[in-house]
Amino acid sequence: MIRKRPTFAQQQAAFERYKGRCPRCNAIIAEAYLLGREVRWRVLPGAKIEWNHIQSLEAGGDNATDNFQPLCKKPCHQWETKQQARLRAKVKRIAGKTGAKRKLENRKRALKAKIARAKRELKVL
Ligand SMILES: [Zn+2]
Repeated sequence: MIRKRPTFAQQQAAFERYKGRCPRCNAIIAEAYLLGREVRWRVLPGAKIEWNHIQSLEAGGDNATDNFQPLCKKPCHQWETKQQARLRAKVKRIAGKTGAKRKLENRKRALKAKIARAKRELKVL
């Protein structure tokens, strides 16, 4: 899945969903205003926000509207990014371990086959 930024409509939907607050620390990051009769949201002046995939793309998340959340840049998005990096490292570590185990099992199987072959040859002699 290609990483995408939320469209304007997706951003509006996300601000509405969280009522202009950072879902992690509850800080007010956006304000509602009226454009004609339509309620719109805009980032508060001075607020620094970043868009975050609730379920990361690596974990099977997508760029759908309900998978985006606005987080304040510090500390929330930084924290979220760090957690995801930690999770990725853990997955890699576990994958590495199972890879080593598989290699060992393959070598064991090959050795057993070799022994069986040697036994067969001995019988022939
Ligand atoms: Zn926050």
